[in-house]
Amino acid sequence: MRLILLGTRGGPRVGASGRNNPSNLILINDVPYVIDCGYGTSRQLLAAGVTLDRLRHLFITHHHSDHNLEFGTLFYNAWVSGLAARMDAYGPVGLEQMATDFFSYMKLDIDVRIEDEGRPDPRKLLFAHDIPKAGIVLENDDVKVSACEVHHPLVKQAYAYRFDAKDRSIVISGDTTYAPQLAQFAKGADVLVHEIMYLPGIEALLKRLPSATRLREHLLASHTVPEDVGRIAAAAEIKTLVLTHFVPGDDPSITDAQWTEGVRKHFNGRIIVGKDLMEI
Ligand SMILES: [Zn+2]
Ligand SMILES: [Zn+2]
Repeated sequence: MRLILLGTRGGPRVGASGRNNPSNLILINDVPYVIDCGYGTSRQLLAAGVTLDRLRHLFITHHHSDHNLEFGTLFYNAWVSGLAARMDAYGPVGLEQMATDFFSYMKLDIDVRIEDEGRPDPRKLLFAHDIPKAGIVLENDDVKVSACEVHHPLVKQAYAYRFDAKDRSIVISGDTTYAPQLAQFAKGADVLVHEIMYLPGIEALLKRLPSATRLREHLLASHTVPEDVGRIAAAAEIKTLVLTHFVPGDDPSITDAQWTEGVRKHFNGRIIVGKDLMEI
C-alpha cells in the first residue's frame, strides 16, 4: 500500500506556489485509488507514474471545487487515454447529478468522437455513486473503504475516508473543522492525512483577497488549527501524521517548523509536512 500526495494546497485558486490543488493517491497492489481531484489532478497522476487508463476508483470528500473540479475531466482524460474497464466514483450526494451534467456539457465532443473515432460510449464506463450516509463505501479483496461524516460548513456533507488494507490503514480527513468523531474513526490507523490552517498566515491571505468578504468567517468555521490537528492525532493514537491541504498554501514564508509547532503540543508521533508527489 503506497500513499502519494498529489496536491497539498488548500483552496480553489491556481497559482505558482509549488503546491497543486488537493488530491491524494493510494496504490494497493498497484491499483490506484484517487481521493479528491482538484484542478491539475490528471497531470499530477501522470507525474506520479500512473497512466490515466488505469483509473478505477475515485473518492470525493466534499463538493468544494478544490476537491471536485476535475471530476468529469479526470474521467474524460482516462477515457481518451484508452480506459477499457469501468470507473467507479463515490462522493457526497450530488455526484451522480454531476456525472450526468458533465456528459451533457461535453455531449458535442463525445458524440463526435464515438462516431468519428469508434470509441466506446463513456457514459457506460463511469458509475457515480452518491453516499447518503457514513459507513462502508467499498470492499474488495484488497481493501475496505469506509466514510465518516466530518464538519465543514456550509457544505452539507463532507466525508473522511479510511482505507484498511492488509498491510496498513490510512485515513484521509478531507476538509473539516475540529471533529472529535474523526479521532474515533481514525483510531489505531497507521497514517492520518489531515488538513491544517495556520492562523497568522490567514491575515496575510485576506489582505491579498479583499473581495472575499466572508472568507475569514468561512476559514475559521470550517478548517482545523494546528493545536486541534494534534489533539485529533493524539486521541486517534495513529503512528504517522501527514499534514496537507495547507491554508494558506501559497505562502512560502511559513516554515515547516511553524506548521508543526502547534501540533507538537499534543502529538508525540511522527509528523510529516506534506509536499506534492511525496510518497509515504
Ligand atoms: Zn479544500
Ligand atoms: Zn472544502
